[in-house]
Amino acid sequence: MSDADDFRLDGKAALITGGARGIGAECARVLAAAGADVMLTDLPGPTGPATAESIAGGRAAYRDLDVTREQDWIAAIDATISTFGRLDILVNNAGIEIMGEIADVSQDEFRRIMAINVEGVYLGCKQAVRAMRPRGRSAGGGSIINISSVAGMVGVPWLSAYSASKGAVRTLTKGVAVECGRLGYGIRCNSVHPGVVATEMAESFFRKNQALAGAESLEQIATVFTQAHPIGRMGVPRDIANAVRFLASDAAAWITGAELAVDGGWTAT
Ligand code: NAP
Repeated sequence: MSDADDFRLDGKAALITGGARGIGAECARVLAAAGADVMLTDLPGPTGPATAESIAGGRAAYRDLDVTREQDWIAAIDATISTFGRLDILVNNAGIEIMGEIADVSQDEFRRIMAINVEGVYLGCKQAVRAMRPRGRSAGGGSIINISSVAGMVGVPWLSAYSASKGAVRTLTKGVAVECGRLGYGIRCNSVHPGVVATEMAESFFRKNQALAGAESLEQIATVFTQAHPIGRMGVPRDIANAVRFLASDAAAWITGAELAVDGGWTAT
């Protein structure tokens, strides 16, 4: 076996949340191409099953999973283990964004973003650890990858509530990593922090930024955010999915509790 095989995911099974489109869908495609079996999950709708059908490589299946519902988590992890025989990788990708001046963010909006972006990740970590630990149904350990954001590391105007949620994901990740390490569970847990990545969420982010900043055009906003990334371009979902693939693989066997900025250098400035 060559060293390069450490980057393959053959024989591993992954569960991905918010996988119908955007970064989650690309993670599913990249993990499957690397040999993993993939359980794609999302809120009910036609897009998730269609995305799962389009995936080539490892086997792919689809199941509804609202990340705020613990019963959905239990059922989705059961379905992954029944379908593929195991669970090795969890990608906590589902998330929402709420934009506005902190003075205008309602308590209901704040609670909603915390419910999806933080409670959803907590429930995923909890149920995945139960399954992956030595006395669990898929006792071989595993890799949990939590999608945070640059906004979980630095402040961004009009994103305070989102930043609070993504900062919580960052430190929740470290807690899970240290605990699972000390307990000898063989479970790693890392966070990935994307800059602006071209998805529907980013389109909506630009529209809201234009309104809040009173900018003349979307192009003006796009230019500002392109320049925020020293590397000179915004991200594409593949940039994030490749980092997720690495963290999921045995090539990252000694990496846990890490925060990986995949942001074209945004947070290095
Ligand atoms: P996206 O295009 O908006 O896709 C998010 C997916 O999550 C959608 O399919 C959405 O379903 C699903 N979702 C929403 N609420 C859910 C829930 N309660 N349970 C399960 N699924 C739910 O977003 P994206 O850009 O791919 O972002 C993916 C992740 O990366 C998010 O955590 C986001 O915060 C993070 N991120 C994105 C960027 C960026 O620039 N795009 C930057 C930094 C971090 P519906 O379509 O049904 O709502």
